[in-house]
Amino acid sequence: MKINFAALLLLILCAQSLTMAQRRKTNVDLIIRGGTVVTMDGARRVIENGGVAIKGGRVVAVADIGEIDRKYAAHEVINAGGKVVIPGLINGHTHVPMTLFRGIADDLDLQEWLTKYIFPAEAKNVTEDFVRVGARLGLAEMIRSGTTTYCDMYYFEDAIADETSKAGMRGVLGETVIDFPVADNKTYDEGLAYSEAFIKKWRGNALIVPAIAPHAPYTVSEDHLKAARALSDKLSAPIVTHISETKREVDDSIKAKGASPVDYLNRIGFLNDRVIAAHMVWPSEEELEVLKKLGVGIVHNPQSNMKLASGTAPVPEMLKMNLPVGLGTDGAASNNDLNLWEEMDTAAKLHKLISNDPKVVTAEEAFEMATIRGARAIHLEKEIGSIEKGKRADLVIVDLDALNQTPFYNIYSDLVYATKAGDVRTVIIEGRVVMRDRRLLTLNEETIKADARRYREKIVQSVGVKTLPEE
Ligand SMILES: [Zn+2]
Repeated sequence: MKINFAALLLLILCAQSLTMAQRRKTNVDLIIRGGTVVTMDGARRVIENGGVAIKGGRVVAVADIGEIDRKYAAHEVINAGGKVVIPGLINGHTHVPMTLFRGIADDLDLQEWLTKYIFPAEAKNVTEDFVRVGARLGLAEMIRSGTTTYCDMYYFEDAIADETSKAGMRGVLGETVIDFPVADNKTYDEGLAYSEAFIKKWRGNALIVPAIAPHAPYTVSEDHLKAARALSDKLSAPIVTHISETKREVDDSIKAKGASPVDYLNRIGFLNDRVIAAHMVWPSEEELEVLKKLGVGIVHNPQSNMKLASGTAPVPEMLKMNLPVGLGTDGAASNNDLNLWEEMDTAAKLHKLISNDPKVVTAEEAFEMATIRGARAIHLEKEIGSIEKGKRADLVIVDLDALNQTPFYNIYSDLVYATKAGDVRTVIIEGRVVMRDRRLLTLNEETIKADARRYREKIVQSVGVKTLPEE
């Protein structure tokens, strides 16, 4: 009896202290436990055997595993032991439905590619359904490869926002406005009205930042650019655009307007810290100073620029000046994929080759461009781009034991030069798991592929695509 009484007392005491310990812990929604956490915070902390606590879509704590275990409890715990936890990658420039044009015309320069193939193919095929099918394909491809935020400009952007939000992906999305009739809007004024309604509908959404996207200074008149800027001012919405992509654009601009694209846009008051400028291949040093002063975000698209032989953006100079420059894939028709791992690898290597200096654009700098510096480029650095307390919980768990990653010496080197998209295991956006152990949870891959192949038949017939083998 005595022994039993003592045992009972011990049991009660144990249970009590356990409850107290439990009570001291803060309940969160999700804990990522273990693994190497590459935070990309101001101190560039890399936490060996770390942990991340997530609640309400945001990071509550990032620390070593001991501290996380002591302070937090969650219903859902994902074990990241032996893996690496990184901030979600940011694709700073896409035209997501163009996945359906992947490979219809390659090995051409920008003007011929645009005017002979892309614009006619768009005129004959782009509908809201086309845009939805292409967006789902692109979203699945991006989530699979660890991209958690993308910046897009296309037509029927409201449908893209709808698909993006359903997929649980984050997007800065702008309706493209351009000075010729397009599928969803026949005039520029209609495009502006669409943009205004679109921005008003989506602003305040946790995942979608609605924007306006005048195509480029060579396809949109001065008055229309000013109107886009006025709308951006009125609704505090970002402007997504292409600037200084090719040498020809610069030469034509000097001829027609007496100034380079950057100088011209500055002169008409278009540039500011809400502008996200894709490409920026041909700015002068003085123009880079202007961009820095105004806080213009820049998105470097190394593979697209290489494929269309548009030139090499002065990225080492941009980094030296600490400009907000991120990475983008551009549309899949000029890349031909939406894979940020390749852009990081290419960015690091391209600039070494061009500058004849292997020390420029280090692996860490390339990784930074795909994460925190990329967040600055799309003006979202307060929300995303690093794993930090208070930021949105956009995280990616990547395997570290593939053959191509073995053996392992340096985390940035391994991530940028050796890791492939297929090494991405689990993806979390706004605290929600959207891919678990390589299985997409918000998108159906088989349906997406079948839908895309159906469009292929239509596109082949509509623009006489040369296929190989021939059909
Ligand atoms: Zn583009």
